[in-house]
Amino acid sequence: IRDSVYSARKEALIKPLLDRYTEETGVAVNLVTGKGDALLTRLKTEGRNSPADVLITTDAGRLYRAHEAGVLQPIDSDALKNLVPAHLRNEQGYWYGLSVRARAIVYAKDRVEPSALSSYEDLADPKWKRRICIRSSSNIYNQSLVASMLAAHGDEATQAWLNGLVANFARPPQGGDRDQIKAVAAGQCDIAVVNSYYFGAMLQADEEQQAAAGKVAIFWPNQADRGTHVNVSGAGVTASASHVKEAQALIEFLARDDSQRWYAETNNEYPVRADIPVSDLLKSWGEFKADQLDVTELGKRNAAAVMAMDRAGWK
Ligand code: FE
Repeated sequence: IRDSVYSARKEALIKPLLDRYTEETGVAVNLVTGKGDALLTRLKTEGRNSPADVLITTDAGRLYRAHEAGVLQPIDSDALKNLVPAHLRNEQGYWYGLSVRARAIVYAKDRVEPSALSSYEDLADPKWKRRICIRSSSNIYNQSLVASMLAAHGDEATQAWLNGLVANFARPPQGGDRDQIKAVAAGQCDIAVVNSYYFGAMLQADEEQQAAAGKVAIFWPNQADRGTHVNVSGAGVTASASHVKEAQALIEFLARDDSQRWYAETNNEYPVRADIPVSDLLKSWGEFKADQLDVTELGKRNAAAVMAMDRAGWK
């Protein structure tokens, strides 16, 4: 038997775990890696003939889309229901979160007092005029962040917030999350909104990236209320799977103690399970309160988020 895995996670972030799974179970894994949206398109195109058994991808927004597109099937796993908190998985078992990523604020240590920071809402305050860097509205991480604002505040308040936020941009959105950190380090802006694992990756990368990351610090927004916006990477069994049992076993394997630890640590993310300790680097950033919003809501509100961002002129 051979499990076929389509993964939007890079090979280095998943292959060693899959190898361990093969060692333990004798089930070989055929790994196909690609970009999240491209893999979903491929699954849709291949339909029932897809060789894929498991889809691993990032962002609840994408997992939601995969479910909507009909390329996943529900699995009823007591193990996964016990291990993965209810708000980090699909209610019917179409997908399960396997790691948690937090969308944090980073700030220039020499120009911003952390006491000036508080919440995502505060980023719309005119005091941040021309001081904020953030990537494009086409990025699903930002769409999911805005979806969480819609869930917390509704349409009108979110639109007003978006208008204020966009007015505070230091430059037209460009590049990825690492580029926002580099821009803060270079003085093009004073704060940026990024997934915290990119900050971690830069601290572990080449000298240039380390130097840039060294000029910023991380801040966890919304600690006084609902908590910092979080999202997941996760997995589901495909509708076309020919090895459903093995596919389920593989996802269960990824939720196991040692896998959770490795999976989270390797990408500087957080385990989905509160009982798994985080790495020393993540500990050094301090504990934070995470928004307990059901991440399925991020998918449900994605279209509304995209429209609201567009109306606000967020390129
Ligand atoms: Fe990412």
